[in-house]
Amino acid sequence: MRILITGGAGFLGSHLADRMLAEGHSVVAMDNLITGSTDNIAHLAGRPDFRFVKHDVSNYIFIDGPIDAVMHFASPASPIDYLKFPIQTLKVGALGTHNALGVAKAKGARFLLASTSEIYGDPLVHPQTEDYAGNVSTTGPRGVYDEAKRFAEAMVMAYHRAHGVDTRIVRIFNTFGERMRLDDGRVVPNFVGQALRKEPLTVYGDGAQTRSFCYVSDLVDGIFRLLMLTPGDDSSNPVNIGNPTEMSILEFAQVVNELTGNPAGIIYRRQDRIAGDPQTRQPDITRARNLLGWEPRVALRDGLDRTIRYFASRV
Ligand code: UDP
Repeated sequence: MRILITGGAGFLGSHLADRMLAEGHSVVAMDNLITGSTDNIAHLAGRPDFRFVKHDVSNYIFIDGPIDAVMHFASPASPIDYLKFPIQTLKVGALGTHNALGVAKAKGARFLLASTSEIYGDPLVHPQTEDYAGNVSTTGPRGVYDEAKRFAEAMVMAYHRAHGVDTRIVRIFNTFGERMRLDDGRVVPNFVGQALRKEPLTVYGDGAQTRSFCYVSDLVDGIFRLLMLTPGDDSSNPVNIGNPTEMSILEFAQVVNELTGNPAGIIYRRQDRIAGDPQTRQPDITRARNLLGWEPRVALRDGLDRTIRYFASRV
């Protein structure tokens, strides 16, 4: 297959490019580089089966030749990034999704949307199943991302129903690993960066809020299986992919300090917690297990060890 990956120079997009190339496919990576970086794909430069195109997919996408699959991963994805780029975030979720779907329709390609656990907002159902409709504030600071992705899902289903495009939607829960940006503001790079500098870890709020962290290779494997799934009655409905092992942010901080041997402990920064920051988050992955035969394999501490080694050379 020849696969277009939007956001192909980002954290997830670049790992997907690696996986698709390893499976023998060719990849066109498209990115406007506002949050992605060519550092993430530098090792692929010069390969005949890989091409990078610098382009903002919120504008019309020109692409020569056949395309068999479109994977739409372009978007700022950390709270700090989407607060910095609120309009670009709304545009890439709305206009970018429309343009990427247009490519899939014109080329007769399969389409996969990178959606998010953020569509559940600050959830009132726990753990989150795919049929939960969510608890999202349209006007809160996270609304630019949450509503863009909700619109994107609606647009994908419309192209599926109205145009018969073979579509997939993955709802990605917190994921971490190599190629995250040290300054993207998310809890994993923040804590690991602080720990490696022997600084106290900044816990926002009281640290009782929970997350469930998935190592990137597990996530990529789930997405790969979803893309390759034989089209059927149920293949276009959303699938949660994430690690169901849930912990509080305070517990997570303790694990990072232990693994790095950071003596500086933690500090509470209650005021830095963004309005609408979900209090709990844990994927129900029953659907992924049944449909894809998928579940995560990498333990948190193993994934963190690898991530710490990656960041150690960058702090
Ligand atoms: N968080 C924190 N300290 C930090 C960065 C984040 O306590 O330095 C918290 C944040 O308030 C949230 C959780 O960690 O409750 C996960 O935040 P992240 O930005 O990684 O992503 P989110 O899951 O909120 O999209």
